Amino acid sequence: MDIEQLKDTFRQRYGREADGAVRAPGRVNLIGEHTDYNDGFVLPIAVERETVALYARREDEEGNFASLQADEPASFTLTAGPAIRPGKPAWANYCRGVAAMLFREEVPLVGVDVLFSSDVPLGGGLSSSASLEVATAYALLAAAEQFKAVPDMRLAQLCQEAENKYADSPCGLMDQAIAILGKKGRALLLDCRYRTTRQIHFDNPDVVAMVVDTHVKHEIAAGGYARRRAECLRACEHMHIKALRDADLQTIAGNEGDGRLSYPEVHRARHVVTEIQRTLDGAQALEAGDYEGFGKLMYRSHESLRDQFEVSCDELDAVVESASKCDGVYGARMTGGGFGGCAIVLARADKADDIGKTVSADFEQRFGHAPSLFTTHATDGASVLW
Ligand code: ADP
Ligand code: MG
Repeated sequence: MDIEQLKDTFRQRYGREADGAVRAPGRVNLIGEHTDYNDGFVLPIAVERETVALYARREDEEGNFASLQADEPASFTLTAGPAIRPGKPAWANYCRGVAAMLFREEVPLVGVDVLFSSDVPLGGGLSSSASLEVATAYALLAAAEQFKAVPDMRLAQLCQEAENKYADSPCGLMDQAIAILGKKGRALLLDCRYRTTRQIHFDNPDVVAMVVDTHVKHEIAAGGYARRRAECLRACEHMHIKALRDADLQTIAGNEGDGRLSYPEVHRARHVVTEIQRTLDGAQALEAGDYEGFGKLMYRSHESLRDQFEVSCDELDAVVESASKCDGVYGARMTGGGFGGCAIVLARADKADDIGKTVSADFEQRFGHAPSLFTTHATDGASVLW
């Protein structure tokens, strides 16, 4: 939907013009999977899919939120603070959480009417949830003229806390951080322990990231994620370290030899330790414009997620395998938590169409349905449109 149409819809719904508009993108992680909760590094980019929020200030302190992607609107008093509780409709819990967190941060909020429209697929692994949170935060801050009140990384943490507490989702900081700190032509190297960042060049116009959504989510996804986290934690306890970031392959082998680490722990720990190194090496490769080198690290990452961490599935393996046979592909891997969801392919832009067709056809022949696919460059984090 274009912005003029969205303005019309806003006028019809609220009976007046919007004062302004903000946007916040979705994201995809290039490398660094299951490293965030192990105090490691991640390397996401903001993608060219985003949530737009039109807003108009109100004279009172009410917040009215509607979305083209949801049937029911939601209303609550923005200045009610801790009295704002999760409720129905559930999608608006992301907005409730953000308002409650900004209030706790003592940001003076003003009433707003908000209309969202997003082309980030909901629940598709590209973090529509963080883009909704950050778009909410930007709309509230813009309406109250309070942008200077909250530094970027703090805002990311508040949005993360909103999702943890109001949407009951134990997500890390990556999605909110990239939705705010993303830069056109850059990937964001985020140190999940110290919450520091480095912008990494990813700006060759002839290279694209292709996101392939398998449209499958295997039953074990939720339980599997929790189990992996628990296994990582147990591995740390057995090795007497704070997080797997503090381990190395030698320590793991020593603890395995001594019988302190059992089968799954050894493999989980190995994945995390090698993945953290691959993420750092990957950042260096991108900085040097070495896409072949980066692509190799993507394949190694996928193999490790498949064989050591055991979170891949046939559909994701099939995408990676079929992509790896195409001309113009540098590398491919599953991205996100695993057990379904998306794979990412790093490819030459001029070959992307052919690669997409081959990967789609192979997939459909084997699994009976087509994946969806789009290509993107790294884009800017949240911004004010007008
Ligand atoms: P992901 O973040 O990978 O897209 P999540 O399950 O974390 O998946 O978040 C998806 C949820 O976020 C949706 O079910 C919905 O509640 C909410 N959401 C995201 N974007 C919108 C939107 N534009 N309008 C309404 N709800 C949205
Ligand atoms: Mg999400």
